[in-house]
This record gives sequence, C-alpha cells and structure tokens, in this order.
Amino acid sequence: MSHSIKWLGHAACQITTSSGCVILIDPWITGNPSCPVKKEEIGKVDVILVTHDHSDHMGSDIPDLVKDTGATVIAQPELAGALQEAGVSAENIIYGMGMNIGGQVEVAGVKVVMTQAFHSGTAGEAVGYIVILEDGKTVYHAGDTGIFASMELLAKIYNIDLALLPIGSVFVMDPLQAAYSLTLLKPGKVVPIHYKTFPILVQDAGEFVKLAGEKAPEVQVAVLQPGEEVLL
Ligand SMILES: [Zn+2]
Repeated sequence: MSHSIKWLGHAACQITTSSGCVILIDPWITGNPSCPVKKEEIGKVDVILVTHDHSDHMGSDIPDLVKDTGATVIAQPELAGALQEAGVSAENIIYGMGMNIGGQVEVAGVKVVMTQAFHSGTAGEAVGYIVILEDGKTVYHAGDTGIFASMELLAKIYNIDLALLPIGSVFVMDPLQAAYSLTLLKPGKVVPIHYKTFPILVQDAGEFVKLAGEKAPEVQVAVLQPGEEVLL
C-alpha cells in the first residue's frame, strides 16, 4: 500500500497514509476557489496542521472539522489560543497548548516536526511541517515562505521523500527560488502549490517545471490539478 498526498488547491493538502491516518494541512476549504471538495465531503481526519493564521491557510472550517472528526490540531501556542477562542476544545489541540519550531510530536501513528518559515502571521509566526509517516517516508510542507539556507539542514536531518513547495511569488517563493530550493531540500519528488488561486499569483507551473529541470534534474516534479494525488 502507498501513501496518498492529495492537493486540495492553494496550500491545502490531504495526506492519507497506507494505514489510513488522514492528515490535513492548511485546510482552507470553504471559500477556496481551487478546492474541489466541500467541508462535509472531507470525511475522516486524524490530524490538522496549521502553518499560520492567514485566511488562505487557516480558513474558517477548523472548528467544525474538529467537532465532526475529533481531529488533533497542531499549531504554535499563540495560534492554538486563537483557535480555542474560535471554538476548538483544548482537548483537540496537541498537548492542550500547541507546539513550536524544532519540536517533534507523535500523533495518530505519525511524527510531526514543526520547522521555520520566513513569512508573517498575526497569532504566532509562520511555520512549515515535516511529517514522518508510519514507515519512515517523509513529507515536507513548507508553508508560506521565501527560500532559506537552512533548508539544507532539513534535508540532512530528515531525508525528504516529497516536498510540497509554494511557487506563486508575491507572498511566497517564486518559481526561481522554489526551483533553487530543490538543490537544498533534495527531495525525491516535489509538488508545486500556492499558485493560480488569485490573479496576482503565478498562474501555472510551467516556469517552475523548466527551472526545476535545470537546477535539480534528479527531482521528480509532479504537477497536480486540485483534487489529484501523488503516491509515495
Ligand atoms: Zn500567508
């Protein structure tokens, strides 16, 4: 059995592991023009990871998703506090208070590491996540970020099998930075995300695919349509 990593449009991703654990990352479902599913169609969720509190990442569905599924939410403490004010029970937040950059937690059979990201946020800072699945396969969701040199350290420590990288420019890495980041992260595969959703963002993955082929030809690039998945 393989793990499935499905792109739900923008930065929203759904990992379903080979043993059935479901992890949602940045579940902006309602109001996301690229998202092919409705909140009610998401089904089972075990873990929700939130990279930061911008509305195109945190969205408005997390309190309902938690009520419907009993999922455990992982976020920085400040953001976890904001989620509690929005109606998420402390019982559904990792350790009742959240976690922070550098830490690793184990939940529902997977390990989650919070990583740095260079971006902004209102409650807490923007972060990324490394998710280590039951069999050791490793997925990196960069969140919203520009390129940073210590991506190289993440590669050395975690051996990334799949990277979910923003390429849309304006608020995040542009195709050039995202392609260059592959030389630091050295993932087996990459899925470009965080583009096309808004008119001001890069509108297709073509330039990223071309640059990735030049800078890191050994990395397999998987360009998905929202709703499509890559197997790991
Ligand atoms: Zn943002």
